[in-house]
Amino acid sequence: MQQITVLGATGSIGSSTLDVIARHPNEYEVFALTAHSRVNELAQLCRRHRPRYAVVGTAVDARKLQRLLNGQDCEVLYGEQGLNQVASASEVDTVTAAIVGAAGLAPTLAAIRAGKKVLLANKEALVMSGALFMQAVQEHGATLLPIDSEHNAIFQCLPCNYQEGLPQTGVRRLLLTASGGPFRETTLSELAQVTPEQACAHPNWSMGQKISVDSATMMNKGLELIEACWLFAASPGQVDVVVHPQSIIHSLVDYVDGSVLAQLGNPDMRTPIAHALAWPARIDSGVQPLDLYQLARMDFFEPDLEKFVCLRLAREAAEQGGTAPAVLNAANEVAVAGFLGGQAGFLQIAQIVQRTLEQADICAADSLDCVLDADRQAREIASQWLARMS
Ligand code: NAD
Ligand code: MG
Repeated sequence: MQQITVLGATGSIGSSTLDVIARHPNEYEVFALTAHSRVNELAQLCRRHRPRYAVVGTAVDARKLQRLLNGQDCEVLYGEQGLNQVASASEVDTVTAAIVGAAGLAPTLAAIRAGKKVLLANKEALVMSGALFMQAVQEHGATLLPIDSEHNAIFQCLPCNYQEGLPQTGVRRLLLTASGGPFRETTLSELAQVTPEQACAHPNWSMGQKISVDSATMMNKGLELIEACWLFAASPGQVDVVVHPQSIIHSLVDYVDGSVLAQLGNPDMRTPIAHALAWPARIDSGVQPLDLYQLARMDFFEPDLEKFVCLRLAREAAEQGGTAPAVLNAANEVAVAGFLGGQAGFLQIAQIVQRTLEQADICAADSLDCVLDADRQAREIASQWLARMS
């Protein structure tokens, strides 16, 4: 029996993970579930999946959850300490890192330092702390498996010795596919007026609000470019983005002999989750088989960097290195929250990120303290810009 901790259990990835786990009751058991503030939802999940531990954000919510669970044999913890404890507990085999944003960094690192198998959805953690994160994976013998669909696709298409280096193993470049989001055909002038509801209505994927807005600005693809560089030891120049509106090809690997390998499937996160959970075996994920006759065609376009400025900013931050990706990420988190809260327009997200990158001190990301300082400073600068713009 594999014991699983799901960080961010009430989210979109958390719920897909629990769906896959529940299909295989003889292989996987839920050890711990965590949520930030949706206590009622977490209580329901605890009743269904019977974890040994549940973690919420605050002591007040912990008492509320305890009351809701009414005598069920489940220990309730709270705060960062609670998250770190269930991410690193000796009984745990696998941790799904599915908290959104920088809040996921500490517990994800705790799982890595405890040498766990980590299923990574929380790309922001890796974007912030790239080198330190990958170094910790090496040092502590953790197994890092991507469940972001593009990176999971690339992982499936790479040769098994890819860690010897991409050129050494015949890989020319990695091709990240992007759906183009809900505004692929919206003009730049129309973009100024779009609402959070429109931004969150993704054509192919149902996801949390933050990543939905990131998909609409294409910052998501920018974060994924940085994520790919760290996961596969690629330089930014070795990663290209191709817009593919049907979201059937989840990414591709281009080899020096002209072969291009792709992973295809219906757009459903249960496929990459099941792949990583059972790797190197294969298990049923509940996803419908792909019907190529019904699909009939696939399209590909170059991304429009005039319209999707965030993608360009992310590539520049990747090239600059150091704490630039952490600054980009923090400014984006503040700007997206501002957009969702009605304080900023859609196009101001990129402006806030750009201004913050211009103003912040970028230094070498050689300690976690440096990264956390850069994150804090970027949040301050971005919040000032947000206040000025609203
Ligand atoms: P979501 O908003 O649906 O869920 C987020 C989860 O994180 C919730 O359980 C919430 O309780 C928890 N959380 C939020 N803030 C927290 C905090 N401060 N402390 C502790 N927990 C907190 O998000 P999602 O769409 O499931 O995305 C989760 C992560 O996975 C993100 O990093 C996202 O980029 C990545 N991802 C998501 C998808 C997808 O299809 N949804 C695909 C690829 C990658
Ligand atoms: Mg993705």
